[in-house]
Amino acid sequence: MLRVSRLINYMQKCAFSVQAIPKPTENPQILHSGIFINNEWHKSKSGETFLTINPTTGEVITEIQKGGKADIDAAVDAAHDAFKLGSPWRTMDASERGHLLHKIADLIERDGSYIASLETLDNGKPYSEAFSSDVQFAVKSIRYMAGWADKDHGKVIPADGNFLCYTRHEPVGVCGQIIPWNFPLLMFAWKIAPALAMGNTVVMKPAEQTPLTALYISQLTKEAGLPHGVLNVVPGLGDAGAALVANDKVNKIAFTGSTEVGLKIQQASGVGRLKRTTLELGGKSPYIILADVDIAQAVEAAHNAVFYNQGQVCVSGSRTFIQESIYDEFVERSVERAKKRIIGNPFDLKTEHGPQIDETQMEKILGLIKAGERDGAKLLTGGKRHGDKGYFVQPTVFGDVEDSHVVAREEIFGPVQQLMKFKDLDEIIDRANSTNYGLAAAVFSKDIDTVNYLTQAIKAGTLWVNTYNAIVAQCPFGGYKDSGHGREMGEYGIKQYTEVKSVITAVHQKNS
Ligand code: NAP
Ligand code: MG
Repeated sequence: MLRVSRLINYMQKCAFSVQAIPKPTENPQILHSGIFINNEWHKSKSGETFLTINPTTGEVITEIQKGGKADIDAAVDAAHDAFKLGSPWRTMDASERGHLLHKIADLIERDGSYIASLETLDNGKPYSEAFSSDVQFAVKSIRYMAGWADKDHGKVIPADGNFLCYTRHEPVGVCGQIIPWNFPLLMFAWKIAPALAMGNTVVMKPAEQTPLTALYISQLTKEAGLPHGVLNVVPGLGDAGAALVANDKVNKIAFTGSTEVGLKIQQASGVGRLKRTTLELGGKSPYIILADVDIAQAVEAAHNAVFYNQGQVCVSGSRTFIQESIYDEFVERSVERAKKRIIGNPFDLKTEHGPQIDETQMEKILGLIKAGERDGAKLLTGGKRHGDKGYFVQPTVFGDVEDSHVVAREEIFGPVQQLMKFKDLDEIIDRANSTNYGLAAAVFSKDIDTVNYLTQAIKAGTLWVNTYNAIVAQCPFGGYKDSGHGREMGEYGIKQYTEVKSVITAVHQKNS
């Protein structure tokens, strides 16, 4: 056991301030690589498989069963049957559903070090973060939703006329959930917890780059006692996601990923039948630093806002706006900090920075860096691949970035910081909002009036003041504009998994 007091970001601080982190297992045994339907493991109906890769080395970890339309349809049938009235799931007490979710959280805690090792192997994120942030936050998210299972209820409404009117909160039905590769375990927890707490059934499609933790936790849900068919997990590549969206027995789709795919899902969810959707998509978040801040703190926070998880974060603070009087000092310190970032083997507890998820993403990021240079942004550090094994990209800082530059407009999803200068509030409001995205934003200032003014002006689903990446189980999270719709987590998160039924009963009067 090693004592680690370094705080990488706020999420980690919340979960695990000064805590003993168990040693990782660098070669965790792969126990599950199949398709999980009705609490059993299956091979793909086509007989096809795909490979999951270790992004630190580029080597194959294992072969995964490749679920296609036939497997998705079988999983949806299982979820549909499990949702029928009279099934063990539909007759279970709501409090028992909460209890089951707590048991799943207990098992994730029990196997936390193994699960974090699996995540680091498959995704490349530093093990210290996988354990102290992803695992702990997944557990907290599941426990938070477990508490709602028997507490979300309707109302009695004083309706006009002689009626008894009350509302019932009912589950939506079969929920198709498609999760990304940047936080595989955490997104799995965020998606299944509110769906199951509210009594729905689930077919989950994990990202093809990172199926391992979702598959392992599927087995834990069986160990916890989740009835068969309630949670089904189908890894796939290329057609599984679309097959899930197209299936008529699916009542709702929840997706986290690119705006491009989110748009396709939204369109397909309106073909034939109208599915409910929750979409958590891309971002190009403004991070606004006023001249009155403590510069050292603001530099460190801005650094973590961009480089955390190798920049593969939807809320990455990737447009760093600095008021002009502190711009030069801020730039100098930011470059210094980026140069010190510890890059290397993600199983080493000192490592801050691992590889990007795959070669495609690495090449996309390197291409965007070149575009930044072509546009005239000043490359101050980094800009290249790190080493020749795996998919590492050097922590990169651009100065003198202008709003028209590609690096200021496109979601890079990589370790690339854009430092930009501004003069006054009205200018910064326009520039911060001049994007189709609206996921998150930050304001750093000691002046309450400035903070309040900017807070109401910036269009974003989350606005952080003097902090960043403060994402917590109790607070809603989601986007404005092309960053998606619907909210995850908190009380708003459970509303996405319930239908409201008004029950209106005539109340006969004695003497009428
Ligand atoms: P993506 O495009 O966002 O999504 C890929 C996932 O969507 C896969 O699971 C895929 O399943 C499914 N999918 C693809 N087309 C679909 C369709 N028409 N209907 C239903 N599902 C469909 O992820 P990516 O290609 O890995 O990453 C591309 C970019 O997305 C990144 O560069 C980054 O900018 C962004 N991204 C954002 C987040 C986030 O947290 N917001 C996370 C990851 C990536 P099949 O393989 O079965 O089709
Ligand atoms: Mg992988």
